[in-house]
Amino acid sequence: MPIEFSERLKALPPYLFKELDRIRDEVKARGVDVIDLGVGDPDRPTPALVIEALQKAAADPANHQYPVYSGMNSFLEVVARWYQRRHGVPLDPKTEVCSLIGSKEGLAQFPLAFLNPGDVTLAPEPAYPVYRSGTLFAGGTTYSMPLLEKNGFLPDYRAIPDEVLKKAKILWVNYPNNPTGAAASLDFYRELVSFARERNLIVASDAAYSEVTWADRPHPSVLEVPGAKEVAIEFHSLSKTYNMTGWRIGWAAGSPTLIKGLGLVKSNVDSGVFQAVQWAAMAALEGPQDSVKAMGQLYQARREIVVKGLEAAGLWVFPTQYTFYVWVKVPQGLKSADFVSRLLNEAGVVLTPGNGFGPSGEGWARLALVQEAPRLREAMDRIGQLKF
Ligand SMILES: *Cc1c(COP(=O)(O)O)cnc(C)c1O
Repeated sequence: MPIEFSERLKALPPYLFKELDRIRDEVKARGVDVIDLGVGDPDRPTPALVIEALQKAAADPANHQYPVYSGMNSFLEVVARWYQRRHGVPLDPKTEVCSLIGSKEGLAQFPLAFLNPGDVTLAPEPAYPVYRSGTLFAGGTTYSMPLLEKNGFLPDYRAIPDEVLKKAKILWVNYPNNPTGAAASLDFYRELVSFARERNLIVASDAAYSEVTWADRPHPSVLEVPGAKEVAIEFHSLSKTYNMTGWRIGWAAGSPTLIKGLGLVKSNVDSGVFQAVQWAAMAALEGPQDSVKAMGQLYQARREIVVKGLEAAGLWVFPTQYTFYVWVKVPQGLKSADFVSRLLNEAGVVLTPGNGFGPSGEGWARLALVQEAPRLREAMDRIGQLKF
């Protein structure tokens, strides 16, 4: 008998970028100098003080054994202080914070703690695919909340049919948003929390990009809403804030019950984050934040180059002061896939087709600002040669 994948693996959505990967390899094989603005991975290195903290902590044998799965007390306290400083939210580090091996890990495992077979999660689309796959692995099904331009890419959860809401357990949101760059207001979170309390839903907020910004004020956290801690959990990461995608550290914060459930799953699956990485994360969160501000300004400057170039080429982009993504509207009459393959074939520039994040992303493409300014100028010069 041939070995077969489980039904849950077979149920994963098809990988939509296969064709794009094929064209990219073909274009590269032609000798074209391809400029890759496809993946959402910061190009700049981790700040030196974080690297030094890791080096020091890695040399200390006290950090060589199994860590406490939920995170070192000192790390949990640093996270609690960060929430107080950044959002004015008090957290009990012992019961309201948990370390994660990167926030993706927490996002993926969270549904295992709260979904029963047949339960529904409400997830945005276009979106980061993990909300959906985590739900699938936990035996649940996902009901999509389309993010539309006319709603500022915020979900219209009041439009969800009653019979779906009755089975729904978790509602996912992600602001600042990947892939659209959209932001949410505190009022949005207020209404969301009140809706969740009304309908007995868990709010799961993915805030991976809250610090990737050049706005004057911090992006709000759902936990700022009074009473949010009864229904909400927020997932956070050092990956995008401090260019630490390879380091694998993040956290979850919020309702003690939600943190406890996630912790129970995790204690059966993993054994926590290498303590030296936790020390490095503490150095990042408690040290001077100039690097965070500088990265925000760097993305702003890069964005200006790109927006100017795309607009000169007759394209329209969704305005934002958050994330390192540019959400580009595909010219009328073209599909996302056609647009992206044309940019690749004729300009040697890689973008991600919007429909790869969900059907409502059709008609859009995502450009990641993860190359230095001269490369972005080069990309814009090449795109400027095309006529749309
Ligand atoms: C990058 C990203 C994450 C998390 O990354 P980790 O490295 O696992 O912390 C989470 N959500 C979204 C939307 C992302 O783009």
